[in-house]
Amino acid sequence: MNIRLAAPLQRNSIVDGEGIRAVVWTQGCTHNCPGCHNPETHDLTGGTLVDIEELKKEIRSLSEENGVTLSGGDPFFQPKECLEVAKCCHECGLNVWCYTGYTYEQLMALAKKKKQILAFLQEIDVLVDGPFILKEKSYDVKFRGSKNQRIIDVRQSLKTNKVVEIPKYRYVENAVPEEREIKVYI
Ligand code: SF4
Repeated sequence: MNIRLAAPLQRNSIVDGEGIRAVVWTQGCTHNCPGCHNPETHDLTGGTLVDIEELKKEIRSLSEENGVTLSGGDPFFQPKECLEVAKCCHECGLNVWCYTGYTYEQLMALAKKKKQILAFLQEIDVLVDGPFILKEKSYDVKFRGSKNQRIIDVRQSLKTNKVVEIPKYRYVENAVPEEREIKVYI
């Protein structure tokens, strides 16, 4: 099976989730968020087709990283392929973060029609959801670009059937700077 990637596996990232991470840059996204930083990753037929077994080999060889982030592009345009990658990460003891332009609620609606979406979601630990919204752009929110995006504990959300944000990353509107610092970053 092949996966369409926008770039080779990136190692040692400290900005794409907690800890030291490898990043799988998937190719393909139709959300077209104004101000997107990675427009070259949008073309669903662009990038490079890579044998998933080769990518898995690279993931198994990671030694510095404690997790893998699936980003793009939007990994949910290749749910079957990304599911395989996420499974491999967990087999290697690596946690899995995933960025998507869909909201969690949209993904749950899509999952009713497409089982692969749910299967992939079930293999994700942390989901950073929602489109990048230029007017919500903020440097106060860690690991994402705009305030509308949420950092979600997927297992808890699936278990309780509601969105469970990770409390330390939840953005609190109108918090005074000191409160925001405590609520967002600790
Ligand atoms: S979802 Fe991400 S990659 Fe896709 S257009 Fe929006 S910001 Fe860009």
